[in-house]
Amino acid sequence: MASVSFRGVEKNFGRFKVIHGISFDIADGEFVVLVGPSGCGKSTLLRMLAGLEPISGGEIDIDRRVVNDVDSKDRDIAMVFQSYALYPHMTVRDNMGFSLRLRKADTSMTAQRVDDAARILNLTQLLDRYPRELSGGQRQRVAMGRAIVRDPKVFLFDEPLSNLDAKLRVAMRAEIKALHQRLKTTTVYVTHDQIEAMTMADRIVVMHDGIVEQIGTPLELFDRPGNLFVAQFIGSPAMNILQGTLRQGEGGSWVEAQGQRWPTVPQAQGNDGQAVQYGVRPGDLHLSTTGQGIPAKVVVVEPTGAETELVLRVGEADLVVVLHGRTGVKPDDTVLLDVAADKTHVFDTAGGQRLD
Ligand code: ATP
Repeated sequence: MASVSFRGVEKNFGRFKVIHGISFDIADGEFVVLVGPSGCGKSTLLRMLAGLEPISGGEIDIDRRVVNDVDSKDRDIAMVFQSYALYPHMTVRDNMGFSLRLRKADTSMTAQRVDDAARILNLTQLLDRYPRELSGGQRQRVAMGRAIVRDPKVFLFDEPLSNLDAKLRVAMRAEIKALHQRLKTTTVYVTHDQIEAMTMADRIVVMHDGIVEQIGTPLELFDRPGNLFVAQFIGSPAMNILQGTLRQGEGGSWVEAQGQRWPTVPQAQGNDGQAVQYGVRPGDLHLSTTGQGIPAKVVVVEPTGAETELVLRVGEADLVVVLHGRTGVKPDDTVLLDVAADKTHVFDTAGGQRLD
């Protein structure tokens, strides 16, 4: 078990800088997910932590020791990749024990660790099979088993589920989370899938273009995204965003957008007349039952069973609304929208920073 620290970490590929001085700490036993769009640098950061990529600037610590110049094999980490990289000519048992045998570990200890890992991962019945005789999910579990038997200080996962179908991905997500709850090994997990990040992480690091946009628990990022990028990246369906103008009056602030007056928290920061982006999540818009609200035209009604997704038009803007249960509204109906004021978000248009 170990803590991990990034201090001013940079990475250049030739003259091209892809990581711009990243600093944050991971506590002992924490499950941290690095998330961000393709090319933001999350794999590169993980590979630097793993020792698979030299660090161009700054320092990385594992267990309070600077590892910049420590060989990958001496960092006491285990990495699970998207391509499971199992040895095809070895059985599951031999694949799992391989790294210990390589270190000339005691044979009976190796056998014991493989048996233990197989039990945790439900692989005991499959120990004598070859990788080609396994399903995708089983292979993924063997790859995890291989990491577990090494009993590393830190587990690193690089998009380990992206080769699996949607259903299996959900199941494996839960398995990895349960595994972490059981072993409590410090874990750094890379994905571009914000739902994976939300469901698995103790804390999420949102990356974009080689910088950290925000770090927080899943609900902190969901409830109070610090900027427009995080607001639009976290949450599904994505947050609705309207371009508008901030107004400050006697009774507090509001936003003018699409010819309507949109409520904000009582007093959003910012100047009267400032150009802003007004954000509200699909679940924080409701159909009004009081006869008051913002008029909207129904464009699409999509029942999914437990919920109903609506697309509503206000002025020129389309808004997504997710309602619990079902609704009698039909396309072309006019409805009144109720906005949960305390759940709204206001961002400066120029810098994208949160204002409320
Ligand atoms: P993805 O989700 O697509 O894997 P990522 O966030 O993991 O993306 P990285 O793979 O870390 O992104 O890549 C970050 C940037 O570094 C990208 O612009 C990529 O093109 C560049 N890059 C990565 N590896 C190399 C390399 N070996 N040589 C040059 N540029 C590289």
